[in-house]
Amino acid sequence: MKRYALVTGGSRGIGRAISARLAAAGYHVLVNYKSNEEEARKTLEMIVAAGGEGELSRFDVASPAEVSRALEEWGERNEEAYIEVLVNNAGIRRDNLLFWMTDDEWHDVMNTNLNGMFYLTRALIKYMLNKRRGRVINVVSISGMNGMAGQANYSAAKAGVIGFTRALALEAAKKKVTVNAVAPGFIDTDMTRDLNQEELKKIIPLGRFGTAAEVAGLVGFLASDEAAYITGQVISISGGL
Ligand code: NAP
Repeated sequence: MKRYALVTGGSRGIGRAISARLAAAGYHVLVNYKSNEEEARKTLEMIVAAGGEGELSRFDVASPAEVSRALEEWGERNEEAYIEVLVNNAGIRRDNLLFWMTDDEWHDVMNTNLNGMFYLTRALIKYMLNKRRGRVINVVSISGMNGMAGQANYSAAKAGVIGFTRALALEAAKKKVTVNAVAPGFIDTDMTRDLNQEELKKIIPLGRFGTAAEVAGLVGFLASDEAAYITGQVISISGGL
């Protein structure tokens, strides 16, 4: 029977690498994206070129209406199927010092990074619980564990996802569904393009930014049967930061 995984924000960066990793593990991957169709197509082409399979799924995770419409339409086209692995990866930064932070900077980050994760997980967890098989993997950040200056919105959203992860893990454990988070440090993607890598490398014990593929390796492991006894955890992948 075909197994399905959904990766939010699969068009670029960490989400693209996770999509490729899960496809290589045999999942049919729904590659979600918000607007960058060209990059999303590239992700799908990479998957297919490597012998895997998937499909594009365009919706804004921050819109409850778009999330439910997309999932309902998919469910109608795939009546017997369910999404067994959900990777909540879509995320944005809108950094500012708190006294300058606008309402939009606060709400945009909350809506995408925290509320989006809630809409998707609420919609899909029931199928995993019914089937007694499933994985929810949330991509958080070191910023949500330790806090980061200029990121009160982002740190708060990611810390919210961490609390959600721990609580849902307790709810879902009886049905053998695991819920974990991975917390990257600095990873080389579009999101960190504006940062001064040379300066930041000096504070990273391993002396470099991580790669999206390294994060994807960890997510792939958490999605696998070998990780069946890990739940409610936040695993850092940060070069020792
Ligand atoms: P990225 O390269 O900027 O890619 C962001 C992805 O999220 C894109 O696929 C984008 O889709 C999608 N996205 C953004 N808003 C969305 C929305 N409302 N609905 C659906 N998709 C949306 O980011 P990244 O570096 O790969 O980051 C991925 C995750 O890792 C994020 O949660 C981020 O907070 C976390 N993280 C990153 C780092 C790092 O150093 N890079 C460190 C810690 C944590 P479009 O292509 O359509 O815009």
